[in-house]
Amino acid sequence: MLPKPLAYVAWPIYWFFQGAYLMGLWVIGHECGHHGFSEYPWLNDTIGFIVHSLILTPYFGFKYSHRTHHANTNSIEYDEVWIPKRKADKLYSEILNNPTGAFIVFVFKIVLGFPLYFVFNLYGRKYEKGITSHFYPYSPIFNDSERFQIFLTDLGVFATCYAVYRAAVIMGTQWVINIYGMPILFMSGFFILLTYLHHTHPSIPHYDSTEWDWLRGALATVDRNFGFLNHAFHDVTRTHTVHHLFPTIPHYHTFEAREAVKPILGDYYKYDDTPILEAVWRETKDCIFIEPDEVNGQKKGIYWFYK
Ligand SMILES: [Zn+2]
Repeated sequence: MLPKPLAYVAWPIYWFFQGAYLMGLWVIGHECGHHGFSEYPWLNDTIGFIVHSLILTPYFGFKYSHRTHHANTNSIEYDEVWIPKRKADKLYSEILNNPTGAFIVFVFKIVLGFPLYFVFNLYGRKYEKGITSHFYPYSPIFNDSERFQIFLTDLGVFATCYAVYRAAVIMGTQWVINIYGMPILFMSGFFILLTYLHHTHPSIPHYDSTEWDWLRGALATVDRNFGFLNHAFHDVTRTHTVHHLFPTIPHYHTFEAREAVKPILGDYYKYDDTPILEAVWRETKDCIFIEPDEVNGQKKGIYWFYK
């Protein structure tokens, strides 16, 4: 048992780094979903399913919604996640459009964004009907051939929840919170930081179907520098653009691929190494809603962030 003052410091350090390495594990599961980890599809799905279930991520549900995200990146109609608000959404464009509002939005997103995205599809695409949850086999996010795997996903996450419950009965709730719960909370914060910052930046456009195409969407992503955490995150932080262009490249080759692709992309490659906390505060404050350019008297096509 650590002496009290030391415990107050040591536990948060453990939660932070354990959360970062769990995020690294999450990245491996994501790569399995792309069939980039191994040449064998069954091995990708087995490893991805085990790894993601252990960290409360619905493997197959995310694999399939993520496929749609890659196929429709930055389309305001069909992208799966991080679609910005419109000016007509007054809660965001007026009521929360100030530093206090931005702070509330930021804390809410970091603490609750991960579970609320997977359970209720918050920050996800709006479907016309149906229950949009990554855990619901009949969700419109999935097609009929995928529904059984969503059921398996639920079993995987449920098994982890049961194991956590049993650990709490045997070892005590406080022990489980310290060893597992808090690192998962940090991991889910890192997940939000990473995915949000790759797809949100004052300089990137969004498109409706009159202007969207796959390459434009793939290039509307931004690489970021997480400093000493890049390593724990397997460098996906600085290689997200190349990941959108070639999603099956495994993480241990993406940096090399990025260096090869950068000179070809020229100005189309976007990298912002603003310190992460500064960047997330700027984006939360400045990237609230998008509105379209006016072309020949018509407002449609390409959408930019406005303050
Ligand atoms: Zn991906």
